Amino acid sequence: MDNKKYSIIIPLFNEEEVIEECYSRVSSILDKIDAASEIVFVNDGSKDKTESLVNEICAKDSRVKLVNFSRNFGHQIAITAGMDYCSGDAMVIMDADLQDPPELIPKMIDKYKEGFDVVYAVRKKRKGETAFKKLTALAFYKLLKSMANIDIPVNTGDFRLISRPVCEALKLIKEKNRFVRGLVCWVGFKQTGIEYVRDERYAGETKYPLKKMLKFSMDGITSFSPKPLRLANYLGCCFSLLAFIYAIYAILAKILYNRAIQGWTTLIVLISLIGGINMILLGILGEYIARIYDETKDRPLYILKNLVNIKEDKDDK
Ligand code: UDP
Ligand code: MG
Repeated sequence: MDNKKYSIIIPLFNEEEVIEECYSRVSSILDKIDAASEIVFVNDGSKDKTESLVNEICAKDSRVKLVNFSRNFGHQIAITAGMDYCSGDAMVIMDADLQDPPELIPKMIDKYKEGFDVVYAVRKKRKGETAFKKLTALAFYKLLKSMANIDIPVNTGDFRLISRPVCEALKLIKEKNRFVRGLVCWVGFKQTGIEYVRDERYAGETKYPLKKMLKFSMDGITSFSPKPLRLANYLGCCFSLLAFIYAIYAILAKILYNRAIQGWTTLIVLISLIGGINMILLGILGEYIARIYDETKDRPLYILKNLVNIKEDKDDK
């Protein structure tokens, strides 16, 4: 018998169609592992029957816990809350929709027993995802890799096992716009990956529409790289140099040949170009300032509605 305890953290947002299947597949895997375990569901303000379905499961299985949010706070915050309330020596973070096969959990535990603190799952193949999603994900990770000061493994999501020391380190990080997979990388420790084939969503639709994906990628870049802020400097230098050369040309043309530039087209093109670039740069500044604003407000990360099957009554984080 393994004397460790394992926690499975599963965020839920409107997952009434998958919750039963998710519970039965995860719990049958946990039954096979000869160790203490728990499933920590975090209900991220679902508007459907998710909450009552989880409550029913909790009533018949005390191994299942529920952290219930007062509203939707977002996937990354839900995972964080799961870490705050789980009690295992190691925890696995996975999606509810069974795109992350629970059958991989024992393999992750094996690696943990070999001495790894983080075992992330690398997607060898992604089934049932649109070409658009795959392409944008690839572009995003390439961009992030080129800009960020940390080396986030490509083709990984949040499906991973982390040990208690990693979890405690993550809990020390209080930032509001969290990019958990980056933070896991940032804390260090001994990390490894195992490959898997990502399945299709079991039922229902993605809870990550384009808007949420954009916010998520912005969080990833802004929380790990100041480089976009420097773009203004680089572009500013380039444009000043070009303007200087053009000014000399214009002056010489006037003095030597008495030829003033007619250039309405040039003028319009330049004004729109520089105007557009200015707006983009202001937007980038705005993204960072919005995040500074979020940090200074120092609101709690989430507000709880209630906890089920969890004794310890912690303060809201
Ligand atoms: N999720 C959440 N809050 C949200 C959006 C998603 O807790 O605001 C959960 C969702 O229930 C699922 C996981 O995050 O368990 C991943 O979402 P989804 O599978 O829809 O994302 P995708 O796999 O399409 O990227
Ligand atoms: Mg999914």
